Amino acid sequence: MIVAKFGGSSLADAAQFVKVKDIVRANNERKYIVPSAPGKRGAGDDKITDLLYACFDAANNGKSFRHVLERIQARYVEIAEELGIEMDFSPEFAAIEQALKNGASREYAASRGEYLNGKLLAKYLDFPFVDAAEVIRFTRDGRLMEEETNALIASRLKGLPRAVIPGFYGAEEDGTVRTFSRGGSDVSGALVARAVNADIYENWTDVTGFRMADPRIVPDAQYIATITYRELRELSYMGATVLHEEAVFPVRKAGIPTNIRNTNDPKHPGTMIRANAGQDETMHTITGIAGHKGFSIVSVEKDMMNAELGFGRRVLQAFEEYGVSFEHLPTGIDTMCVVVHEKELKPHQEEVIRRICELVNPDQVTVHDHLALIATVGRGMVRNFGTAARLFTAISSQGISIRTIDQGSSELNIIVGVDEDDFENAVKAIYDTFVRI
Ligand code: ASP
Repeated sequence: MIVAKFGGSSLADAAQFVKVKDIVRANNERKYIVPSAPGKRGAGDDKITDLLYACFDAANNGKSFRHVLERIQARYVEIAEELGIEMDFSPEFAAIEQALKNGASREYAASRGEYLNGKLLAKYLDFPFVDAAEVIRFTRDGRLMEEETNALIASRLKGLPRAVIPGFYGAEEDGTVRTFSRGGSDVSGALVARAVNADIYENWTDVTGFRMADPRIVPDAQYIATITYRELRELSYMGATVLHEEAVFPVRKAGIPTNIRNTNDPKHPGTMIRANAGQDETMHTITGIAGHKGFSIVSVEKDMMNAELGFGRRVLQAFEEYGVSFEHLPTGIDTMCVVVHEKELKPHQEEVIRRICELVNPDQVTVHDHLALIATVGRGMVRNFGTAARLFTAISSQGISIRTIDQGSSELNIIVGVDEDDFENAVKAIYDTFVRI
């Protein structure tokens, strides 16, 4: 059985709805459908969710929001009309208008995009509609109650062989609507998949899956056929985003694979994300490359540092005291390097350095800015000898110097730091070496 989540661009207009219905119909196993709100129909268009936030902001400032709400209503009406669905949205919109006038929350406002789209899609597919407010439970301070939610979805869907459950929101015990962060329908879909113990969680979007490198840098970067959740985590931490970060945990825990698919190219198998994946002969040594700019390295040098008990802890304490979190710690015998986000460090740089001096009395502290980190990730790296050497040769043969290296002991990931100006060329060099062979 399959749980299929469709993103906003997959449901942006009537033509997209038709594609979604075809996809749902094409496989009888697609039983539970989780839609987002209608997204942009093209450049310059607005997402329904953004318009709803705009309504809330206007209402909150005592301004009129009627014209925006009318635009939203017009979009739903247009989709319904073009699909030949008879649905009267007026009472729904009157209720939303009234609620906003009575001080309804920002999260309630945003949630109506998915709520109405869920109703519309349910009618179009002829599936029952299950309000997410009934089954996705949040605490009073807006945190997901994962186990309660799991039980609620499981029991509510037990007697329903098919259903549409809108994404992005749920509610507190007393019915107060809460939402996830932006893009959160991915999380809703994952929660439904876990609760019904789906065989696959399909995530339908407007890209054909993950690419081995950012296509803005490597335009013809290949699609990744299979990736593990761990590899994905490493890549998304470094900036490769297709899925909401929190959408991984429920399905990963339950051992359910997530399949990223393209609504506009449904024949393409997309990217399959699995808990464990074997290594086949056709696979490249690496699974993907990701990275981003905007890091600084703070190097703390002191002779015999390695013999000093608590040295590392005290250095990190200096960062902690100023709320700067560290990303990596490539450390040598007499040097400890702390890699941090430049933006986080800058406002506190002087104080942090002063504090390091007080706490560990170093020989020298230097800061190197404008660093880019590049993660090369791959479960195939363990099996292949000399991966690190190939990687470093690829980068240095372009005349790029490597500022820092960090290899996790899992042998799943090698991170290198280069100057920001060298970032794109370094990514290309790694891609060429491992993929274009
Ligand atoms: N509609 C919401 C957003 O735009 C949630 C989602 O699409 O997943 O963020």
